[in-house]
Amino acid sequence: MTALNELTLAEARDGLKAKDFSAREIAQAHLDAIDRAKALNAYIVATPDRALKMAEVSDQKIAKGEARPLEGLPLGIKDLFATQGVHTTAGSKILEGFEPHYESNVSSQLWRDGAVMLGKLNLDEFAMGSSNETSAYGKTISPWRRQGSDAPLVPGGSSGGSAAAVAAHLCLGATATDTGGSIRQPAAFTGTVGIKPTYGRCSRWGIIAYASSLDQAGPIARTVQDCAILLGSMAGHDPRDTTSVDLPVPDFEAAISRGVKGLTIGIPKEYRVEGMPAEIQRLWDQGADWLREAGATIKEISLPHTQYALPAYYIVAPAEASSNLARYDGVRYGLRVPGKDIAGMYENTRAAGFGREVKRRIMIGTYVLSAGYYDAYYVRAQKIRTLIKRDFEAAYASGVDAILTPATPSAAFGIGEMASADPVEMYLNDVFTVTVNMAGLPGISVPAGLDAQGLPLGLQLIGRPFDEETLFAAAQTIENAAGRITLPKAWWA
Ligand code: GLN
Repeated sequence: MTALNELTLAEARDGLKAKDFSAREIAQAHLDAIDRAKALNAYIVATPDRALKMAEVSDQKIAKGEARPLEGLPLGIKDLFATQGVHTTAGSKILEGFEPHYESNVSSQLWRDGAVMLGKLNLDEFAMGSSNETSAYGKTISPWRRQGSDAPLVPGGSSGGSAAAVAAHLCLGATATDTGGSIRQPAAFTGTVGIKPTYGRCSRWGIIAYASSLDQAGPIARTVQDCAILLGSMAGHDPRDTTSVDLPVPDFEAAISRGVKGLTIGIPKEYRVEGMPAEIQRLWDQGADWLREAGATIKEISLPHTQYALPAYYIVAPAEASSNLARYDGVRYGLRVPGKDIAGMYENTRAAGFGREVKRRIMIGTYVLSAGYYDAYYVRAQKIRTLIKRDFEAAYASGVDAILTPATPSAAFGIGEMASADPVEMYLNDVFTVTVNMAGLPGISVPAGLDAQGLPLGLQLIGRPFDEETLFAAAQTIENAAGRITLPKAWWA
């Protein structure tokens, strides 16, 4: 029999309903797996007492025939989501000791629907990064290794703890957030599925802000179906987030079996970037073939402003971050380092509390927003953002239903390999994902194969605004054709 923590979320749901096992048993199986996986450092904090208490409630509900949609399903929560009474850090020392008095909207909807919280997942500090190497709580190690090597690899970032935990069977699914790729890139690096929904689909209320006009929550899970199930609970209008959209939440799970017959899938020629490994190109071609064989029409399209997306993103995101992070002053949350007066206390707290990458972003952001440079950098970046959005609008207006691209320009890299003196090297990893946030569109990453070293590679599908259903349908088509990736054996346990 499959170990309880190795079931898919959908299988676990059915097994609980059929009373094949109890919510307590599946929670315990995960807690044991988490205990054995300390080497991966995927969880910043596990919450076993809370998990078992929630599981007990679930077992009672199931016994009474009152099971809710996610009854008894154990999940991990990225430590960017505020969880009431549970240490919430954003991977930063500056939030040390912070226990929110409130629950994020997204996580509260998961508990409303009966899910069980296993703990808080590691991430790059304030979700800034692509490798999980900037967390103040230590790096997360990927469960994956290159064939014949035991060099540790990154799980991607910033939702690296979420992706690693899902791939290592330390939860059935996890919450994540994506500002420039932080759901899709770690999903691609770990052979898992991750969807960043349309901006406004999930409430940002209670999620620690990085760049508010780009941030969006979404799930990471082991299958397309599991992502569809989770997004159904995470999404929905919330008046406390004025950018949350008042639209009904579709039945995402029903959409996975729609297929792609009659759809037009765009292949943007600008994503054929220089120096892209041949195996990524092959995977992309393979993905297009799979969709064609399933009845879609493949069409080459142009998104002419793609090359400006990355530089514009790295102006807009730090600008908003510098403003959002101004609130960490030692007065209201977490860490406080005394100084000779209040300004000294601010300075000491921020100097000690923020890591290098966060400080770099605050400095860049402050610079591009400063009086002398605002027009030269920030305003121009916003104009480019509009042009990028128009590129997508034109493609969709020409009859394209979704766009297929690689998720990342490479497979996972080694710990330390990109942490060179030049941070831009790491930023380049976001080349295929940031455009989607700049345009506010939904994007899904789905595992599609392995590279020559046996590491997973993902394909990305980009959709029309609020058309996550088409993405689920197309991603399911790819998952069916590619076959599910065999996740690594537990060398860490
Ligand atoms: N890697 C990108 C950054 O560092 C994206 C991060 C994210 O999506 N949160 O900004």
